[in-house]
Amino acid sequence: MDSFQLPIIKKRLKLSDASVAGKIWDKHRANAQKIAEHYADAKEEGFARYAWRVKNCSKWLEFDLLNGEEDTLQLKLKDTRFCRVRHCPVCQWRRSLMWKAKTCKILPQIINDYPKHRWLFMTLTVKNCHIEELRLTLNQINKSFKRLTELKMWRFKGWVKSVEVTKGRDGVSAHPHLHILAMAPPSYFSHGYISQAKWVDIWQQCLKVNYQPVVHVSAIAKHQDPEIIIPEILKYQVKESDLVADAEWFLELTRQLHKTRGISAGGVLKEYMRNLEEKSEDLVNENKQTQADEEASLCFTWQATLGKYIK
Ligand SMILES: [Zn+2]
Repeated sequence: MDSFQLPIIKKRLKLSDASVAGKIWDKHRANAQKIAEHYADAKEEGFARYAWRVKNCSKWLEFDLLNGEEDTLQLKLKDTRFCRVRHCPVCQWRRSLMWKAKTCKILPQIINDYPKHRWLFMTLTVKNCHIEELRLTLNQINKSFKRLTELKMWRFKGWVKSVEVTKGRDGVSAHPHLHILAMAPPSYFSHGYISQAKWVDIWQQCLKVNYQPVVHVSAIAKHQDPEIIIPEILKYQVKESDLVADAEWFLELTRQLHKTRGISAGGVLKEYMRNLEEKSEDLVNENKQTQADEEASLCFTWQATLGKYIK
């Protein structure tokens, strides 16, 4: 929510002038337009449908106007129509916000249930692959990760795994990797601590490759809240700049990632995650309750030629 002063409610008001979040909306929506064009240019039946859906995503935004502090007003998203296409920049942004909100809500419960456990953040990578081999490579990574979790040395009580894919600099390759947030037993650092070099060896064995893969492991300090790492884990599967950069790469990415899973959980965190998944996928707002001091509502529409939302 953002605040703004009353006098600026005028005709042709730009959302970006009314709210700091307006610029963010404009950016994601402009990228959605590019994605819709990528799909439209593909001339494939399935992609034509995506093109139409993304093109019509969040074309208008209705905000509640709420009383803020010191005579300011605040905008709170009330209604819109999302396309829910997986790689739509607006929808993936809203989805990441929704997951972040959901997870931050449940985290105190996990910490309460396992107060002495420590958290580790891990990145497991493989060499870049050709974008047309992404699905195969992801299968290999996921199988290798399963192998890793079945080893005796894997003493984590629970973990969340997210798959990220970035675009290789050569324009035809992809860099798939895993981000893991793992919950370690209190004894992890005194008994059975595993060095970074050892992790590289273990991950290499699980991958069954003849090179040393890049691995990063860092412990979240005792006094630090694991919440700080959640945005990293639940950030976009593919960066928006990579989605829009190259139509061919993007279309192949869509084919390769079709029906693959982005985020999953294991160990005791699986149950917490299941509870989250069962809740509805509300991309408008996590807190639906209407506020008593509701003033009125404002509607902004997307002006493609200006690249802005305007009242
Ligand atoms: Zn969308």
